[in-house]
Amino acid sequence: MSAGKYQQVVALAGGVGASRLLRGLVRVIPPESLTVIVNTGDDMVLHGLHVSPDIDTVVYTMAGAADPDRGWGLAEETWNALSAMERYGMDTWFALGDKDLATHVFRTSRLAAGAGLATVTAEIARAWGVVPRILPMTEDRVENRVVVEEGGRELDLHFQEYLVHHGSPDSVLRAYAAGVSSAQALPEAVAAIEAAHAIVFCPSNPVVSIGPILAVPGIGAAVSRSRARKIAVSPIVGGAPVRGPADRLMRSAGIDVSCVGIARYYAGIVDTLVIDERDREQAEDVATHCKCIVANTLISELRASEALSRILCEGVDIRTPQE
Ligand code: GDP
Repeated sequence: MSAGKYQQVVALAGGVGASRLLRGLVRVIPPESLTVIVNTGDDMVLHGLHVSPDIDTVVYTMAGAADPDRGWGLAEETWNALSAMERYGMDTWFALGDKDLATHVFRTSRLAAGAGLATVTAEIARAWGVVPRILPMTEDRVENRVVVEEGGRELDLHFQEYLVHHGSPDSVLRAYAAGVSSAQALPEAVAAIEAAHAIVFCPSNPVVSIGPILAVPGIGAAVSRSRARKIAVSPIVGGAPVRGPADRLMRSAGIDVSCVGIARYYAGIVDTLVIDERDREQAEDVATHCKCIVANTLISELRASEALSRILCEGVDIRTPQE
């Protein structure tokens, strides 16, 4: 069957939370019907290498190659290059595994040869046998920055420096995506949104993952214009993030750290929010902002991810092949 015969689905994705959902989703819908638009605000140049953490997490996870415990990086990784860098006094706070390094070297060399990030991302996905289309939100430079208070002064950090180097402290004053308002949306991403039957907002950090994707002007506008069914999964479960610093970043942005806060944040953008069973008592409040579905959203296990994906498909009226 050609891809045109399927209802097209677009997913907006950060890293780990999104990947957990996507690997179940592709077992429920035809992988060729899925386009994933990935946040590039966490990208950075490290040791001269272009690292795209969220794209790599999505690709590695969909390829079944991600480390299952860490959620990022590759399984059965070794760290010899990183140890060797220490000899030269290089920064080693950002863990680059030996196998993972090959991806960054490849990406950097292809970009230096003039290929665009979308082309290189497609090449990387193909090399890993990943069928869904993985698209960066933009090829322009966007940088998630987190301003923290430390010792009475403000420190303006790259998101990865905040997360990894500084251990995501509580003292967040604000976060912003530098360069996003002048970033050009990837035309293929806009076209995918226009052709989508449904748009899935993955359970990702709203401030540094989904927020920056929607803040790329062409993407935010295409999502608003789109008549597609729009469904989000709350990354906040039981009043806290499942992992990572979403609570600190949400608080700094004035978003209540709860599924109701997520519903308010997405009000007018999504029609439906899936909240976790553990937050069932907040379903009524959520329903004042959008339709609310209650389900198990803890999806580190593939089976749970697949079950949630079926619920999502039902929620947005996507026919799954088994039906
Ligand atoms: P990052 O770039 O790796 O931080 O990835 P994301 O932006 O995709 O995801 C971080 C968010 O994913 C956090 O707010 C987590 O709470 C959420 N998350 C991770 N695992 C799960 C899960 O199993 N279920 C739900 N509902 N959210 C999750």
